[in-house]
Amino acid sequence: MNTPSSPAPLVVAEPRLMRDTILAARRAGRRVGFVPTMGALHAGHASLVERAAVECDDVVVSIFVNPKQFGPREDLARYPRTLPADVALLGASGARWVFVPEAATAYPAGHATSVVVAAPAADFEGAIRPGHFAGVATVVCWLFNVVPADAAYFGAKDWQQTVVVRRMVADLAIPIAIEVCPTVREPDGLAMSSRNAYLSPDERRRAVALHEGLESAARHWQAGDDVALVEEAIRAALRAHDVPVDYARVVDPQSLVPPRPGAAAVALVAGRVGTTRLLDNLLLPPRP
Ligand code: AMP
Repeated sequence: MNTPSSPAPLVVAEPRLMRDTILAARRAGRRVGFVPTMGALHAGHASLVERAAVECDDVVVSIFVNPKQFGPREDLARYPRTLPADVALLGASGARWVFVPEAATAYPAGHATSVVVAAPAADFEGAIRPGHFAGVATVVCWLFNVVPADAAYFGAKDWQQTVVVRRMVADLAIPIAIEVCPTVREPDGLAMSSRNAYLSPDERRRAVALHEGLESAARHWQAGDDVALVEEAIRAALRAHDVPVDYARVVDPQSLVPPRPGAAAVALVAGRVGTTRLLDNLLLPPRP
């Protein structure tokens, strides 16, 4: 396991070198953990790396702002890019390698293959961002081939993404374990996100609406309220902070369809704080 005093991670851009390096480590009996990211790293990303460093001998982190998962009117061009600070954070978190592929290696001339995950990608983010999850699944599949690690670590913050990735890995028999780690939050409860950097001071204050809505939903859930009332509690919190709602739903955590009575559920919320879309979610335990 790497420790916080580990040397700076080795930055690798070449897919073949990356793959050979991972395979050599595994042949030497080392367990390799993989954390895919788009960079602009924060404590949420660091928590994934730290968890991987505890459970694995070596940790590899990819930084790739994947153009295929952004829509034509989305924030690809202005997405924050902070590679030197990212590499410093990864050294302190225990990463051994940082994989930074060029877009042209992930999508070579003539690239024509997409991975499309149907049901779990259809609603929520998939409905609002057409093509987003095909972009995610395609790049994650490519990354899992180039970085053939033992386990990959994802944040619960992007709950639907974890469901889509698990589905793809099961359906395509990709030999990698998927681990999901808890959402890291700011002191006021806002889920950490690279996109929080877009928020003005006023928007930053209003952004707490998502977390407040989820906390309110959890109280209604515990009180035994109908799902419709639990969902309305989320919408009310967003209204109170002038945050338009994209969706506020309570669904089954694995299938994202309406929850079964007596089973756990997940509350999913997305809203627009100014021009910035923010997502959050909260697991709701089974109730009698
Ligand atoms: P991104 O760079 O936004 O694509 O995120 C890379 C990984 O970090 C994804 O698995 C995210 O779910 C995860 N992640 C992002 N924000 C957080 C957070 N606040 N807490 C835990 N994991 C996170």
